[in-house]
Amino acid sequence: MYFYSTRNHNLKASIDEALLAGIATDGGLFMPSEFPSVYDTIEKNDSFNTIAFKIIFPFLQSYFTEDEIKQIVQDSFNFEVTIVSLTDKLKIVELFHGPTLAFKDFGGQFMANILSKILKRKNQRATVLVATSGDTGGAVANGFFDKENIEVVILYPKGKVSKLQELQLTTFGKNITAISVDGTFDDCQRMVKMAFADTELTMQLGLTSANSINIGRLLPQMTYYAYASHQHFLSTGEKPTLVVPSGNFGNITAGLFVKKMGFPIHRFVAATNANDVVPSYLESGTYTARPSVQTLSNAMDVGAPSNLERINCLFSDDVVAIKKELTALSISDIATKATMLDTYSKYSYIADPHTAVGIHAASEISTNVATLVMSTAHPAKFKEDVENVLGIEIPLPKQLSDLIGKQSNKIEMENDFDTLKSVLLKDK
Ligand SMILES: *Cc1c(COP(=O)(O)O)cnc(C)c1O
Repeated sequence: MYFYSTRNHNLKASIDEALLAGIATDGGLFMPSEFPSVYDTIEKNDSFNTIAFKIIFPFLQSYFTEDEIKQIVQDSFNFEVTIVSLTDKLKIVELFHGPTLAFKDFGGQFMANILSKILKRKNQRATVLVATSGDTGGAVANGFFDKENIEVVILYPKGKVSKLQELQLTTFGKNITAISVDGTFDDCQRMVKMAFADTELTMQLGLTSANSINIGRLLPQMTYYAYASHQHFLSTGEKPTLVVPSGNFGNITAGLFVKKMGFPIHRFVAATNANDVVPSYLESGTYTARPSVQTLSNAMDVGAPSNLERINCLFSDDVVAIKKELTALSISDIATKATMLDTYSKYSYIADPHTAVGIHAASEISTNVATLVMSTAHPAKFKEDVENVLGIEIPLPKQLSDLIGKQSNKIEMENDFDTLKSVLLKDK
């Protein structure tokens, strides 16, 4: 197993090189060279962590021992994945029971564990630079907090993340620096990409990324697709359709990997909000990035989804082939709110806005197989919006109530790469 660049299949890296670099030297994203058919080895009563180990092992085994990989799995996935049935045909796969209450904890915990092990072995330091539309930053900060040899710098769009999300980014201190950028998520993501193209920065800082451009984010996200599809197939004998609320399309790309590894998945639905670049691309065959617009599901406000490059690579740029595996639907804020209300009144289930985008998309596809909607965030993360829409009060889980009253520290910055560069190089 090796990893190659989406832009040049002869540009190869080992797992440690791919993780440390974040992005290939030609600007492409790393892709696994193989998708071993792991499903054949899964047994009926395998636990989540056993399945996680089996699916991740082939990607890591060239660098880590079996025991190290077991340890990484155990340290990274120490929270529940819960599957809730709303009806016979509609299930919610709750991925938000980790420390920051979003599915990004899978990537945040795993990358922190694996990168710190790699850096220790190499006796190197690194700076993780990450752009966040809301949830990545918190998950990354939580995973990397106080890890040796690693500095973390988080860029987030000023005023465009929820209050609680901001507290999750800004209250750690120590090796975590939060920068509030006067711009959008796309501006933050663009500056991160510029930083990677800047040799002075990459040399001086040992720069790497914890965004879903890093293959290290996608590998841990494979675990729950494997687990959920296996569980569903065991109990019903049918392959489910998986609906994934999508922004940068890293989550759904991990799902596509899992299907290639033989797991029982019928097909995928990518549910976006008004940022409908991918639905338009699949419809027209032409890709046009657009400035992102702000919506109720802010973690999906992405106008230039990075992982589309991986999806195109996986299907050799054949839009027809992509459409066989994947339908993409854009759901408005009005429909999202209506679905939040409807889901609450029909099933007493409180869906956060991102999950509601997925539930709405599930209702739009006509299918006679069951649908599993990936629930990407806990509703309390979006307390104000959820309370406004549903007219109820929701309690804060401990992970969030612990943040209230903590000291918040951030650097305020113009949307300007040179300023970012001087901030990054300040103490060097
Ligand atoms: C990040 C995020 C998404 C989008 O995931 P992608 O991998 O960027 O497609 C959806 N929902 C929530 C709550 C998120 O935090």
